[in-house]
Amino acid sequence: MEETILVINCGSSSLKIALFDGQLNKVSSGLAERLGKDDAFATVKGREERIDLSAGAGHKEALNALVNVWQDCGLLDETPAAIGHRVVHGGETFREAAPINDDALAAIKNCASLAPLHNPVNLTGIEATTALFPDVPQVAVFDTAFHHTLPPKAYLYALPRQLYNDWGIRRYGFHGTSHQFMLTETARILGKTPATTSIISAHLGNGCSITAIRDGNSVDTSMGLTPLEGLVMGTRSGDVDPGLFDFLANKDMNAEQVHRMLNKESGLLGLSGQTNDMRALCELADHGHEPSQTAIDVFCFRLARYVGAMMASLAHLDALVFTGGIGENSSLVRKRTLEHLGLFGFTVDGELNNHHGNISNGQIEGADSRFRVLVIPTNEELVIAREALVASRNG
Ligand code: ADP
Repeated sequence: MEETILVINCGSSSLKIALFDGQLNKVSSGLAERLGKDDAFATVKGREERIDLSAGAGHKEALNALVNVWQDCGLLDETPAAIGHRVVHGGETFREAAPINDDALAAIKNCASLAPLHNPVNLTGIEATTALFPDVPQVAVFDTAFHHTLPPKAYLYALPRQLYNDWGIRRYGFHGTSHQFMLTETARILGKTPATTSIISAHLGNGCSITAIRDGNSVDTSMGLTPLEGLVMGTRSGDVDPGLFDFLANKDMNAEQVHRMLNKESGLLGLSGQTNDMRALCELADHGHEPSQTAIDVFCFRLARYVGAMMASLAHLDALVFTGGIGENSSLVRKRTLEHLGLFGFTVDGELNNHHGNISNGQIEGADSRFRVLVIPTNEELVIAREALVASRNG
């Protein structure tokens, strides 16, 4: 049996898991949902039957169930060669992926105050795999790490310096594995090295962020202290006037209510009053639903403004890159966004855009465009699997 790598991505009530072989081909993937609830269940991609988990099952039980399926059908030997975990916040401590040991665990716990919804549950995933495979090397791959090169002018808020010194309040940036993957893929497509490649990478999924990468380094990004800042997202507002908090406090909304509104009830969902799902929104807009049309307009305009803002960090631009569920699949969003950017010299080829990019290189820009524009499918799991494999081979 050849070596296998497990990639684990834990959410508060979900577990996503993928199985890679030693050549980094994805062999299978599984998903457990509604963890902690009475009707927790898991599924393996490509298999019809649901695996019913016991009422209130947590991440550990879900992991055992999914691993059992793979062991039973011969996809996974007794133990994997390595395990890679997505960990959301690495603070200023983690500048790259880190082998999981006692020190790393303590440091991840330390970052939990910066990501109280994410890091604790990431640690739960690490505990679950450690219990199941105590001797297998594990590595943590951080959403923030790729952004460790942000300069102070990009990461400091214009707040009293004490807030940064005492509490680490600064911009960190997220989606780092995806933006890093865009860099390496763009470099490969353009026949350059990542270290000489400069791109603007727009990751547009349920969460959305955009990053300026200058000669291989992240130099500006739209998400900040938390993944709430920046672009319009599925249910997150992105940028708002900080004066809003005062205003809402005077309307008797408490911090928890404001947090829920900004994170769960805003963005495309809040604007349209219908859905956070861009595909559904496009259909509604097609049928003349005005709030949905407006939601798409706000989304594309904010994105275009941010493309302009990212230009300020670059000396040259090799490509603007679209990725994530919306970036890869919505020709309308790409077209609308690029239409705002004509002054910079961006043009779009309608035919290539409708096909989500030239099949060989993802190109969608027009022949007369000043800059390349590419559509590249993201693959965060692959980045994590690669890091885990490297860590296991380095002993
Ligand atoms: P996540 O951030 O949860 O990984 P994804 O990257 O899968 O999310 O992106 C989900 C978003 O992509 C949803 O808004 C979904 O509607 C959108 N999307 C997927 N396919 C299409 C499509 N064909 N047209 C427009 N939007 C799409």
